[in-house]
Amino acid sequence: RAKQQGRNTYCFYTPEMQARCLRQLTVENALRRAMEKQQLSLNYQVQLQAQDRQLIGLEALLRWRHPELGQVPPGEFIPVAESSGLILPLSNWVLREVSRQLRAWLDEGLDVPRIAVNLSAAQFRQPDLPELVLSVLEEFAIPAHYLELELTESMAMENPDLAAQTIQRLHQAGIGVAIDDFGTGYSSMSQLKHFRISTLKIDRSFVNDLVSSSDDQAVVGTILNLARSLDLRCVAEGVETREQLDYLCELGCDRVQGFYLGRPMNAEQTRRFLAHPATH
Ligand code: C2E
Ligand code: MG
Ligand code: MG
Ligand code: MG
Repeated sequence: RAKQQGRNTYCFYTPEMQARCLRQLTVENALRRAMEKQQLSLNYQVQLQAQDRQLIGLEALLRWRHPELGQVPPGEFIPVAESSGLILPLSNWVLREVSRQLRAWLDEGLDVPRIAVNLSAAQFRQPDLPELVLSVLEEFAIPAHYLELELTESMAMENPDLAAQTIQRLHQAGIGVAIDDFGTGYSSMSQLKHFRISTLKIDRSFVNDLVSSSDDQAVVGTILNLARSLDLRCVAEGVETREQLDYLCELGCDRVQGFYLGRPMNAEQTRRFLAHPATH
């Protein structure tokens, strides 16, 4: 897996490995300059209340367009950033850009919902993460409740004690924490209850075959029950069809995100959406 490949990966085995390694180096070198060359931007994807399609959140998704490499997906460049020391500057850029954008929309008088920001593993490992986040929010005069931070189960389970502390401090500061891609990791129920999280995001792999797979129906039902008994919000990710949406509603999942509800939008499209929600 690309995620596990550090900088010291050996590059001389098969031609495929060589090509992969070369690509990784190319991406790494290009990524180094991406920030200063203003090649980064954020897209925003809506999270809606299933019943009335009311807007309840936006997830910020990082985009990188390089003049020669074209649009490089985050699934490719985030792991490269993680293994090359670029992830912290990149993550800080995302947090500042979200805050700057949020401030601009608020100043325009737009009705902005909570914005979810994906954390990187290295970012979540920083012991002073809550203070760092709060100082950025303060700089842009953003009330903490506008922000929700998304982390994965594996990030939380890497060091459960530190994770519980960090999440607790974020919670105390009024910042929500969501567990992303929930159900794909191996976090134990007994650990989960120690985390002061606000939201579980059901991974899209369970939504994909939901209508036909009784296994996936059981998993989604179990996650919804868990969320209910721990008093957590639950958002289903990757909703692509009307049938999936209906099934989720039937199961009692009232918050949804996915291409069927809306593709990730650039900042200008998002601004228009916030200004005229009814026309979309
Ligand atoms: P994620 O946080 O689970 O984000 C959801 C991904 O699913 C996004 O892909 C989104 O475009 C995609 N998606 C949304 N609805 C649907 C759907 O209905 N069907 C399908 N097939 N896909 C859907 P994207 O933007 O390529 O991001 C991939 C991953 O990269 C994210 O997964 C997240 O883990 C990471 N990522 C994105 N932005 C950031 C960032 O700013 N910082 C960090 N650390 N990671 C990020
Ligand atoms: Mg996410
Ligand atoms: Mg996800
Ligand atoms: Mg994901």
